[in-house]
Amino acid sequence: MFEPTENEEAAPTQIDRRGFFRGAAALTVGGFGAAVEVATPDAQTARAAPELADAADHLEKQTESAMRWIGRDPADWVRPRAGVDHNVVVVGGGQSGLSIGYLLRRKGVGKVTVIDRAAPGETGIWRTIARMHQLRTPKTMGGPELGNAALSFRAWYETLHGTASFDALDRIARTDWADYLDWFQRVTGTMVRYRTRLVEIEPQGDLLKLHLESDGVPRVETARKVVLANGYAGAGGPNVPEFIRALPPDLWTHTTGNIPFEALAGKVVGVVGAGSSAFDAAAVALENGAAEVHMFSRRAYIDYPAPPSPQAPPPLDRGYPNVSELAYELPDTVRWRNFLLGDRRVASVPLDSIMRAVEFDDFHIHLNSNLSDVARASNGKVSGKVGSKSFQFDHLIAATGYRIDLAAQPELARVHEAIALWRDKYKPSAGDESAAGAAHPYLGAGFEFLPRNAAGAEYLRNIHCFNLAAALSYGVPVGDVPSVVDQPRLVAAIARDLYVEGIDTAAHERFINAPLTAPSAAPYERAVAT
Ligand SMILES: Cc1cc2nc3c(=O)[nH]c(=O)nc-3n(C[C@H](O)[C@H](O)[C@H](O)COP(=O)(O)OP(=O)(O)OC[C@H]3O[C@@H](n4cnc5c(N)ncnc54)[C@H](O)[C@@H]3O)c2cc1C
Repeated sequence: MFEPTENEEAAPTQIDRRGFFRGAAALTVGGFGAAVEVATPDAQTARAAPELADAADHLEKQTESAMRWIGRDPADWVRPRAGVDHNVVVVGGGQSGLSIGYLLRRKGVGKVTVIDRAAPGETGIWRTIARMHQLRTPKTMGGPELGNAALSFRAWYETLHGTASFDALDRIARTDWADYLDWFQRVTGTMVRYRTRLVEIEPQGDLLKLHLESDGVPRVETARKVVLANGYAGAGGPNVPEFIRALPPDLWTHTTGNIPFEALAGKVVGVVGAGSSAFDAAAVALENGAAEVHMFSRRAYIDYPAPPSPQAPPPLDRGYPNVSELAYELPDTVRWRNFLLGDRRVASVPLDSIMRAVEFDDFHIHLNSNLSDVARASNGKVSGKVGSKSFQFDHLIAATGYRIDLAAQPELARVHEAIALWRDKYKPSAGDESAAGAAHPYLGAGFEFLPRNAAGAEYLRNIHCFNLAAALSYGVPVGDVPSVVDQPRLVAAIARDLYVEGIDTAAHERFINAPLTAPSAAPYERAVAT
């Protein structure tokens, strides 16, 4: 049976004031190795250190009150099932896993464990592969607090830095968001078992036998439910075009990887793709002294968001932002076409990400440019062509996004063939076909995988897919901040299944048929009319 292990930890238990001050002075950008000091928005330097320390104390007290006001966590009501280690295993301790773990607890679902293969401080993307200065989403968007305002980013930030400081923010600084999530984890007491990787799911009747590796040691635990909150790369991995994959591995890195920025000083870098991550990686390479960065886009232009206008209607592809959790209810045709719209559009890049790279004279965007004939040249560099123009690079960065391919996900090796995909359930009309769309799982109303065939593989309903693969079924990139509104739906579905499974009709029968025994009449006896 499962015993809590040494690597189960919450975020630091004491307020780490230095953590609060971090981000007030400078932002560190770049993944893993890269560290570049950049000017921070003025708003973040608004409070002097002693004032900030007072603010941190105030935040602590305010949060304590808020947690008291929402009341104790409900008792675990889930009827235990003999021989099973966990009711729910949440795979991933990033922003999704943290808030799903917390929500399950608030729902009274006990025996939940959150695992993450990363070490403390390295979960999620915000301090590793995210390289932008600011989040791409608006600063006022609801986050994992899910209605408990005192746990929101805004409450955290305004209490520490002041209302005027929040008002002055353009968007949320990436490192502030990371610090906020640490704080959210700490104040909600959400435990994560770090350095614990889900290797494979093996079905065992309707249960799930989980092959884990914890600090390098294999172990097996069983669960009734698994939530895959394993991120953008959690349903197929990075999308690396074949012509890049064919190169020797030291000549290229996908944006999800450890790009050797420091080694790129004085070098010529090629970036394939022109989305937000492409601009961020190009900027960090240039900030680290790259001699030239060439970005290649097959599209004719770079899209960026128009300045917000109070009169503007909601963008058509997003529907109504305050009911986006209802997008699952849309007919298949509408969900499919929403996906096509997003897939065919030129991805919008925040203007500040564009400007950060464009300010370098040695940054070159090649539009309408399909890099071809890519190979390792005799001088050890990467050669490639666009039309008749030849290029040579010391390193190629693949900013080519993610793919959905359940067959490529090791955790699903034993089960993926049984999972219903959109290609099994929906036939698009001529001209609307999409191989990328067809590879998405066709999910049930609680993010669960559904069996491909009418009979068998019912255990799939106990694997809930809260990652990018859910984007087609749910109409938003699942994992993004806007997708937190879908989490109550996921948690309600899990609670419902555990509840229904635990119903003991015979015990209920016995209970309602038991003879009623009258309590003593002593308290009212003297008033009983005779
Ligand atoms: C570069 C980039 C920038 C983004 N910017 C924004 C933005 O500005 N605004 C926005 O709303 N969204 C943004 N997103 C999308 C989304 O918000 C992030 O991807 C976010 O990190 C998703 O959170 P998550 O918890 O779902 O997944 P992640 O943060 O990716 O966390 C997944 C966790 O699962 C763990 N894990 C994976 N596999 C296993 C396994 N087998 N066993 C155990 N643990 C495992 C990982 O270690 C990781 O800690 C961005 C995405 C990227 C890639």
